[in-house]
Amino acid sequence: MTECASTGNERFTFPPPYCGGCGEDSVSAICRGSLQRQGIQKAHWECWSECNLSCPFCFRTNGQLLDTEDVVRLLRALSTGAIRAVVFAGGDPSLRPDLPEVAAEALMLGLAVQIQTNAQHVTRSFLSALRNCEYVGLSLDGPDAPTHDGFRGKPGNFRHVISLLDQLDRLGVPVSVRTVVGKANHRAVPQMARLVASYSNVICWKLLEFTAVGSGFVNRDRYALPSDAFERTVLASREGLGGSDQLLDVLRNVDKVGIYMMISSQGLVYGTTETALARTGRHQYIGSVLSDHLGYLAQRIPFSSHRRIDRRLLADTGVRSSDRPSVG
Ligand code: SF4
Repeated sequence: MTECASTGNERFTFPPPYCGGCGEDSVSAICRGSLQRQGIQKAHWECWSECNLSCPFCFRTNGQLLDTEDVVRLLRALSTGAIRAVVFAGGDPSLRPDLPEVAAEALMLGLAVQIQTNAQHVTRSFLSALRNCEYVGLSLDGPDAPTHDGFRGKPGNFRHVISLLDQLDRLGVPVSVRTVVGKANHRAVPQMARLVASYSNVICWKLLEFTAVGSGFVNRDRYALPSDAFERTVLASREGLGGSDQLLDVLRNVDKVGIYMMISSQGLVYGTTETALARTGRHQYIGSVLSDHLGYLAQRIPFSSHRRIDRRLLADTGVRSSDRPSVG
């Protein structure tokens, strides 16, 4: 198994530093580079809390939104903490009116940009933002409309996903296909292998074990899958790819603990903890990017560089034709 491959975005500016605790320009040595020293390579930010889908397993935090000025501060802080990449997640990023502008700002700061979308609302300006991504994360949960649309609860979404996949393929934009595996779709997931492998721009097919967090916690009886059934889905999917791990990236719930820096729509930081993932379905915030010292956040976030490194090592031993560096 491997992780999605980076396309090697290079830093090309020296950003003005910013830290929520230190303020502008005079950022302390403790805060500068602190996220990188903790082993954090990228941050997942819920850039928009609204969504045009209502997936019953959604784990977004649904908070207030930052205006453009605060977004720029948040991005400057992440750059000052010396992470490599920022993931624009949601809600759906396509609904954020200034998304192209703030994604471009992230690039100017030298951050690699990844955007995750459900493909429901693709405007010309959103597509132009996708073109500049290191890769696009595209949600696809089944090989056909009945499976995917039924799983997401949105008739017609499968068509939008395939349409965007086609457009990105024509444009040569790398895509990571993200598949949530749950009770309702696990038997159909392996049939996706041929579809996924038919796109030359798909660099990764990520199988995500359903996690009972947020709405998923409320609806866990409908979606939760025994782990042996998940493993059978992984095996069958690998067989569907001809036995190769070249595209496949498997993310089990146990693997998710301690490997993410998550940021809510209003800039609150949380990590992936065992408690949030398994017991309460709720996240634990540790502070705000806009008001706390980066050094404080880096020390408090439940992040395990060992787990992160182990996952990278797994990726490095995977069978890949690409020689691009791996990122999670
Ligand atoms: S899972 Fe993604 S697409 Fe579905 S409602 Fe949540 S943010 Fe929207």
